[in-house]
Amino acid sequence: MPTKTTVSVIKCDVGSLVGHHIAPKVLLNLAEKRLAEAQGKGLINSHYVFNAGDDLELLMVHQRGEENPQIHKLAWGIFLEASEKAKKLKLYGAGQDLLKTAFSGNVRGMGPGCAEMEFEERAADPIVIFAADKASASAFNFPLYRIFADPSNTAGLVIDPEMAGGFKFEVLDAKQNMTVVLKCPEELYELVALIGTTERYTLSRVWRAKDDLICGATSTSRLSLIAGKYVGKDDPVSIVRSQHGLPAVGEILVPFMHSYFVEGWMRGSHWGPIMPVGLKDSQCTVFDGPPRMVSIGFQICDGAIACDDEGKPMIADLFNDPAFEMARKEAMEYAAALRRMGEFEPARLPAEALEYTTLPQVVEKLKGRFKKI
Ligand SMILES: [Mg+2]
Repeated sequence: MPTKTTVSVIKCDVGSLVGHHIAPKVLLNLAEKRLAEAQGKGLINSHYVFNAGDDLELLMVHQRGEENPQIHKLAWGIFLEASEKAKKLKLYGAGQDLLKTAFSGNVRGMGPGCAEMEFEERAADPIVIFAADKASASAFNFPLYRIFADPSNTAGLVIDPEMAGGFKFEVLDAKQNMTVVLKCPEELYELVALIGTTERYTLSRVWRAKDDLICGATSTSRLSLIAGKYVGKDDPVSIVRSQHGLPAVGEILVPFMHSYFVEGWMRGSHWGPIMPVGLKDSQCTVFDGPPRMVSIGFQICDGAIACDDEGKPMIADLFNDPAFEMARKEAMEYAAALRRMGEFEPARLPAEALEYTTLPQVVEKLKGRFKKI
């Protein structure tokens, strides 16, 4: 059996600089130092640290498989240490996503978001990572549907015989805590029926149907369901594998030529337009947004990220490109239209989506004053 490679992206809001704006450099530096040590010890083969707005993102490439306790412990330890540092600096929301205290081998259900994918390396394996800030767990439903199921987005679905059998999609029902797998194109309408309900269903994994080759994985944690109250939006991450019988990198990026709407933004309580940005603009400002999406790409090489001559991982900052200028402009236009609505729906999420926020307390206060008619 050839050795398999695992890509793990584990993220957490451990505290941020000036409100919910960015995970500051000092926390990124700390994470970089700890991951470099882990790489030195051979626990991981490659790493890259970046931020999506106020979220600290740890990308680790290794050969220990998914849900590996050592890898998860490494990430959890970094988040704990970073949140301690954030508390000392009195950064905002320090440790806000660390919802449990006793680590039991896996970060799932403890607050941090996690997307992982283990696979046998192909001759060349291009990987695209997406990370969102101020967005809910199902923020990838729409683009992943377009990438893997929509022939008007992905030419390969039409003209590449390797993709002719379509793809299989695992959908998580967050209310029932159950999953279902649907195969497209045969069950395309059923897939859209489910994942169009973004508040409840999250697209969690994608495989090529003909051989079950894994090609998509997202983080699915819903912080409000873990904490029982609003503690910040989920701000999910996603890993997508590309080329050679899978969607091309350009087909993976083209859904972001236009903005689209996600739940999140201010106080996790509003619809907001996704703004795809380069890493230098990975920050939230207007109404704590608009919700940002960053994307990095790299090639997998012998269990690691392909490196330059100095041993530094070669990372492409995929949204750092004028080609996404139109989406950014659209995002601001949509943002302005929604903000004109103030706190009236559909700018604000419907009441059912706000059950874990402070809104119910406001309504509760008026309870006794309602009179029967
Ligand atoms: Mg965030």
